[in-house]
Amino acid sequence: MAEEDKAVRILQSLRGKICEAKNLPPYYGPNKMRDCFCTIKLDQEEVYRTKVVDKSLSPFYGEDFYFEIPRSFQYLSFYIYDKSFFQKDVPFGKVSIRKEDLCKYNCQDSWFALQLVDANSEVQGKVHLEVKLNELITETGSVCQQLVVRLDQKRTKVKKKTSNPQFDETFYFEVTRNSSYTRKSHFQVEEENIEKLEIRVDLWNNENLVQDIFLGEIKVPVKILKNDNCHRAWYLLLPKDNGNKSAKSEDLGSLRLSISYNEDYVLPSNYYSSLNDLLLISSDVKPISASAVHILGEVCREKQEAVLPLVRLLLHHKKLVPFLSAIAELDLQQTQEANTIFRGNSLATRCIDETMKLVGKHYLKVTLKSTLDEICDSCKTCEIDPLKLKEGDNVEVNKENLRQYVERVFTVIVRSSMSCPTLMCEVFHSLQNLARKQFPDDPHVKYSAVSSFVFLRFFAVAMVSPHSFHLRPHHPDAQTSRVLTLISKTIQTLGSWGSLSKNKLSSFKESYMCDFFKLFPEEKCIKSVKKFIEEISSAESKEPTGVDELVILKEGEVIKRAQGRNRIRKVHNFKKRWLRLTNREISYHKQSGKESLYSILIKNIIAVEKLEERCFNRKNMFQVLSIEKPERPLYVQARNCVEANEWIEIITRVSRSNPERLRVYHPCAFISGSWICCKNTDEKAAGCTSCTGGSPANIQLAIDCDREAERIFSLFHANLPRLQKMEDACGSIDVYQGPQQEQDEYAHFTIEDSRVTFKTLQQIITVVNNLATFHEQYRIKRSTSAIYGSEENPIGAK
Ligand SMILES: [Zn+2]
Repeated sequence: MAEEDKAVRILQSLRGKICEAKNLPPYYGPNKMRDCFCTIKLDQEEVYRTKVVDKSLSPFYGEDFYFEIPRSFQYLSFYIYDKSFFQKDVPFGKVSIRKEDLCKYNCQDSWFALQLVDANSEVQGKVHLEVKLNELITETGSVCQQLVVRLDQKRTKVKKKTSNPQFDETFYFEVTRNSSYTRKSHFQVEEENIEKLEIRVDLWNNENLVQDIFLGEIKVPVKILKNDNCHRAWYLLLPKDNGNKSAKSEDLGSLRLSISYNEDYVLPSNYYSSLNDLLLISSDVKPISASAVHILGEVCREKQEAVLPLVRLLLHHKKLVPFLSAIAELDLQQTQEANTIFRGNSLATRCIDETMKLVGKHYLKVTLKSTLDEICDSCKTCEIDPLKLKEGDNVEVNKENLRQYVERVFTVIVRSSMSCPTLMCEVFHSLQNLARKQFPDDPHVKYSAVSSFVFLRFFAVAMVSPHSFHLRPHHPDAQTSRVLTLISKTIQTLGSWGSLSKNKLSSFKESYMCDFFKLFPEEKCIKSVKKFIEEISSAESKEPTGVDELVILKEGEVIKRAQGRNRIRKVHNFKKRWLRLTNREISYHKQSGKESLYSILIKNIIAVEKLEERCFNRKNMFQVLSIEKPERPLYVQARNCVEANEWIEIITRVSRSNPERLRVYHPCAFISGSWICCKNTDEKAAGCTSCTGGSPANIQLAIDCDREAERIFSLFHANLPRLQKMEDACGSIDVYQGPQQEQDEYAHFTIEDSRVTFKTLQQIITVVNNLATFHEQYRIKRSTSAIYGSEENPIGAK
């Protein structure tokens, strides 16, 4: 059991959006406007930053974020900063949410009042304290008490550039006055009743020449020694005076955020087998509405929450296409008219959207990225709405600009079929057949069934919000946004032309759009759209030629240790570099856009691992080992813990099937004649620690199935009352032999066959209750094993 406990993984993730701010206080300056950006911090560590929005008191960001949180934390905070061109950027407001409160905000979008940023309340970290009361017998024979305080973190000497200082210093305080005791002690405290005393420890960061920065404080009453002679514990650093805010509460405006935080306790694989069995037979259950997967969609208030883990799990087990076909069929049965096909937000359309997002990520990049970059960087004016024209705009010029943009985007799309992933083609193929079966008399439905996804819900959506598809780093500014919206609208229409019986130009509400479309050769467009749809819906699998094109998978600024080993220790061997991972190689550059200084081919990577902090006294470091020089790893420091985690994960992902991957590595570097980790003096010695991810034979796949299964379990578990309600609904339908009973309460459940549905519901509830018991057992064991005051469970955490 102990082994199994170790196998429980606690995985945290955060997803959401920094939407916008409003009512920010005017800036002291001539135009009163502010140039602001937002950051996300885990305690005091910045992990995300938005773009700067210029000159606004209600800036719009619209930036989505998603990341794994690789460590424990207390507060998640969103800061808003004034961009300063001459000095350090200054934060003027924040929204801080305790980790425990995060779940309250899941799946909603709310306004948060901005709080004052007070240096005395910005804290992070913990301190180990040891307190002892000694009795001293003085020369005269009388007894005096001495309080001994030992700190593992203390401001005495300045420990430079470390986040884990070890102070190991002891202070002595004489706490009872004794006139006869003359030896000078370190400190004198004038207090008879030592129980009233309190030890306060403040931690400061030494800033040369400027004011020191407060890091946090702890307060420990001496009376804890009452029963014990010695007390030692870890304490969380807290805000000064426990964060008591000053009376003034200025209105700093507010920030609209959407936050979804998940903390999953992932059990070992075997615990999920019954749940997986139940989910994976879903596509074979008749009717599909009685399957476990469909029921999950029914009971979740936010369908989207269920869609993400479902799609990944089914994809991994190769059950996605049959499942999507089955729910698409259900969706079609509920569609009356061929021209409203797949327009709603059903479980089917959401699952297909998510599938395209997941497996089509690469396809989208190779198809749109370069064209989109050019449009965003040149961004000519394209406004054609007469009501929105600005002074000096020439509508004919704008029209031509827009036409050129649209034509380029349209052309790259209709020529992209060879890059379309096989799985997407299989889904489209199936959609086409289903639509034809449902509407046998409509010759166009086979095109609209596919174009409503590939044009409307994929390319057009990616065009309007390129940042959400990782095609651009940030949400585009207002002007670019408008241009992209116009292009997207046009692309949607051109994409649907192939499926219309007759060109319905007259259906445009806006006459200017109608005029604009006359610029496109109708027959030619229809022909190319139809050809494209036929190509991507053909059942024959094609070679994924898209992979051959060079794609940047991740890039960003890092700090890199010089690779040539210096015999003499040098401070300068860490340099800022631009790290870039493509589907071919990992390389670093002096700056973004500069040629590469060094590169490792992906096929030559044999290990990617973390590097222990003590090695160079730097956090968030990782190493990449190549087959050419395994003893000289590339040592890189990422900007924060989230980035480090992402780099390790993505490099591992692209190199995981390399045949020469190592089984062991050194978690520290080789410095002055030995490996710091194992003290081995042979530079070429094999590693001393097993590589993560197991042996090369069972390398982890890109999808973590246990995690997705755990997510699905949590959703079922959180919705147990609704599962029971659905059970009741099935029961009452059965008894009264008709769905007319209890209409109001049960109307929102799709129950086609109450008996089969009832059976599945019972199976789900049993499986979920069993899993809940395992979680509870683990939780109890864990809470009793981590003692209050230990490093894992420090005092001060509520
Ligand atoms: Zn070692």
